Amino acid sequence: MSEYQEVLSREMRFEAGRKVYSRTYDEVGLTTGSTHACPMSGCSGLRVAVKWPDGRHTFPCSRGMALRQIIGKESAFIEWRLL
Ligand SMILES: [Zn+2]
Repeated sequence: MSEYQEVLSREMRFEAGRKVYSRTYDEVGLTTGSTHACPMSGCSGLRVAVKWPDGRHTFPCSRGMALRQIIGKESAFIEWRLL
């Protein structure tokens, strides 16, 4: 993977509108596009704002989520799942 693709996908991961599946796949939230550094000491992850169907917001750490991504030439498929 080229350096360009890595930089692109890093930004795209946290874009608004990415699906976030709950651990059991029974709920699907969406990223809001808002992130902040994880406050846990020693963690280099990002807290990612997720809006759930019932209106709740949570801020899971990217280190506690699995990323599934397929980057094509003209489109990207990127989803998260809580671990
Ligand atoms: Zn963290």
